[in-house]
Amino acid sequence: MSSWKENVRSVEPYTPGEQPQRKDIIKLNTNENPYPPSPAVEEALRAFDVGRLRKYPTPDAAELVSALSEVYGLPKEQIYVGVGSDDVLAMSFLTFFNSKKPILFPDVTYSFYDVWADLFKIPYERLPLASDWSVLPGDYLRENGGVVIPNPNAPTGKLLPLSDIEKIVAGNPASVVIIDEAYIDFGGESALPLLSKYENLLVVRTMSKSRSLAGSRIGFAFGNPDLIKYLWDVRNSFNSYTMDSVTQAVGAASLRDRAYFEDTCSRIMKTRERFSAEMKALGFTFPESAANFIFASHPEIDAAKLFSDLKEAGIFVRYFPGPRTGQSLRITIGTDEEMDRLIAFLKEYLKK
Ligand code: PMP
Repeated sequence: MSSWKENVRSVEPYTPGEQPQRKDIIKLNTNENPYPPSPAVEEALRAFDVGRLRKYPTPDAAELVSALSEVYGLPKEQIYVGVGSDDVLAMSFLTFFNSKKPILFPDVTYSFYDVWADLFKIPYERLPLASDWSVLPGDYLRENGGVVIPNPNAPTGKLLPLSDIEKIVAGNPASVVIIDEAYIDFGGESALPLLSKYENLLVVRTMSKSRSLAGSRIGFAFGNPDLIKYLWDVRNSFNSYTMDSVTQAVGAASLRDRAYFEDTCSRIMKTRERFSAEMKALGFTFPESAANFIFASHPEIDAAKLFSDLKEAGIFVRYFPGPRTGQSLRITIGTDEEMDRLIAFLKEYLKK
C-alpha cells in the first residue's frame, strides 16, 4: 500500500551541542565566547527605538551590510548576511552546489555539511585528512561540484596555510570554493585577500564566536559581486526578511568596537596557549589549534568515559563518537579560571 510517507523529505538532522540552563556549570561544549559582547552592543539595545519594530527591516539588511563594508573595507555588493553562518552556509549550498558531481569536504569536519548535502540532495565525497589531521590540498583538485572547507578546521582546530587554500581555489575555476572562517579571528590568516584574484571564492564568517554574539545569530559572507548576487536571489526566493532590525543594530555596534574585539580575541588566544601547555604536560595530545577550542586525546583515557565523568562534575565539553573522532574531546577555551578548574579536575582524574 502506498503511504504519504513516500513523499516526505525525511532527513537525519544535525545534533547541536547541549544548552543546559543550569548556571553552576562550566560550559566548554559549543565554542561560545566566555566574555560578554562589547559594551557598545548594550548601548545599541538601550538606544533602539521600539517603534522601528512596526515596520519590516530593510530586505537587504542595509544597516549591517554598511557596517561590514566599513569595517572590512569591501564594497556592499561583495557582502551577504544571514541568520548565523549556518544560515549563510545552507543558502550557499543551495545556491552554488547545484551539480551532479560530488562536492568535496574533509572526512573530519563540521558535521552540518553532510546534513545540508543530504537535505538538498547534493552528492558528496568526504576526503580523509592526513594522520596529523591536515587537510591535503592536492586531494581537492579532482573533478567536483564544489568544495567546502573550514579554516581553521573544526573540530580539529588545525589551520591550513593560505598558500594551500589558494591552491584549492585556483585549481577549481569551475566550482565555487567555500572557506568557512568561523574561527579565523583566533589567530589564522584569512582568505579575504584572495577575493580580488578569484571569482569562485566565498569566505563565510560568523559573529557567534569571536564577537560573543551566538545568541544574536549573525553570519556573513564575502565574494565577488556576481557570486553574492546569486546568493541574495536564492535567499529572496525563500524569505526576504531574515535579518531583523534589532539584530542588525547589535551586529553593527559590535563591528564598530574594534578595540574590544581585538582585546577579547587576544585574551582567548593567550588562555589557549597556556591551557595547551598544561594539557601537554598532563600527557594529552592534540593538533596545534588556531581556534577557540582544542581537540584533545589521552593515551590512557577513554574519551567517552571522560566526557561523561566531566559532565557529572559540571564541566561540559563536546564528544563526537565514531572511528575517527571517538578518542578525542573538543574543549572550548573559556576564561582562565574555567580552564584552571578543568586542569585541576584532570590532574585528580589522572591520579586514579
Ligand atoms: N561553521 C563552523 C565550522 C562551526 O563550528 C559553526 C558553529 N557550530 C558554524 C559554522 C555555525 O555557527 P553560527 O551559525 O553560530 O554562525
